[in-house]
Amino acid sequence: MNQHSKAKILLIYTGGTIGMMKDFETGALKAFNFKKLLTRIPELKLLECEIETISFEHPIDSSNMNPHRWVEIAEIIESNYDSFDGFVVLHGSDTMSYSASALSFMLENLSKPVVFTGSQLPIGDLRTDAKENMITAIQIAALQKNGVPVIREVCLYFEYKLYRGNRTTKINAEHFNAFSSPNFPPLVVSGVHLKINHELLTKSSISKSLVVHKYMDTNVVIIKLFPGINESVLHALFSMPELKGVVLETYGAGNAPTDEWFVLLLKKAIKNGIYVINVTQCSGGSVSMGHYETSTLLKKIGVISGKDITTEAAITKLMYLIGQNVSAKVFKTIFETSLRGELS
Ligand code: ASP
Repeated sequence: MNQHSKAKILLIYTGGTIGMMKDFETGALKAFNFKKLLTRIPELKLLECEIETISFEHPIDSSNMNPHRWVEIAEIIESNYDSFDGFVVLHGSDTMSYSASALSFMLENLSKPVVFTGSQLPIGDLRTDAKENMITAIQIAALQKNGVPVIREVCLYFEYKLYRGNRTTKINAEHFNAFSSPNFPPLVVSGVHLKINHELLTKSSISKSLVVHKYMDTNVVIIKLFPGINESVLHALFSMPELKGVVLETYGAGNAPTDEWFVLLLKKAIKNGIYVINVTQCSGGSVSMGHYETSTLLKKIGVISGKDITTEAAITKLMYLIGQNVSAKVFKTIFETSLRGELS
């Protein structure tokens, strides 16, 4: 544990809109010189913490995020873990929920804050949301009680709310309020004061050492059901030789067609060792297999319930557990159990 009077925060810049600047002559957005970041935001100096920065060598638009880059973020945190009290990851908003979910699984026994944030407008824009997001994310990452970080999990801060990262989803491409956490309340709400919902925070032990898992298996796919989905298309998808896991976005409380071909196709896939996770395509609520006749068969043939997990957390949990070589015997039980607070 760090014994500084001031918390030390590492700001990790991966890219995204937050780091772009408007060229006032051409009006075009261009990548920002990250080294100048601190000088552009004098408010950072007023914060009661020490801030150091590190950047991806080539900052990216988060549409180019992938598991190799998740490992890059995880390794930056791993190699700086003992020297810092908290980490703020500046990241494009488009895939931020996937990255926050992935990192939550990759960082086992995390006992320091990892706060993802970004913005809808670049930091150089007059009406930017970047400053508030970044400053409050740093303040939250720096919160300590008796020398111990208050937040000890992977979170996402955007527009006055700190959410558990693996509960979030991007809901809007233009509003400052771009994220929601449909099935779990915010951990912190920022107003005149920071209102911390202490009872919701992960109470991870600070004595366990951080374990960083670096292998995410990408032989997985998300399939969203729709009326008219046909047998030959689904058959082709499920016949891919490398396929190991499927997140099936079903209707409502986990319902799907009862057509014989559909159920048989899933049954065969599951028999062949493909994990099928049932996640609702509704933006909130939970899968409850057996509640309707249209999900009873899914339960019978061994489809795994995603309960109230988001699609982002489901696909990254699937990559993580397959990457961990979790045995088929316990896979369903482990998936249906909360590992990092990702499901209720
Ligand atoms: N396309 C950008 C990205 O995700 C959007 C943003 O940063 O908000 O990198």
